[in-house]
Amino acid sequence: MSTSWGLCKNCKWLQIEPGASPENLTLGLCIEEQLQPFRLRVSGNSGCNRFTEGKPVHANGSSGAPPTAKPQR
Ligand code: SF4
Repeated sequence: MSTSWGLCKNCKWLQIEPGASPENLTLGLCIEEQLQPFRLRVSGNSGCNRFTEGKPVHANGSSGAPPTAKPQR
């Protein structure tokens, strides 16, 4: 686990819609393993201390309320 806080738009655990870019207002599902049970929908400028730098993954239904996509990692 990372101990540094960071933004969802720069995090490998962000999952967004196909074709979407990770901008401040892009909505997506957090697929970090311990947060998966919460079906947490976040925006690009949300963040937490489980942040891990990386590129987001993509799946249909990642931005719904609630998100319906399965975690891709
Ligand atoms: S909530 Fe935390 S772990 Fe999930 S995508 Fe955002 S920064 Fe990453």
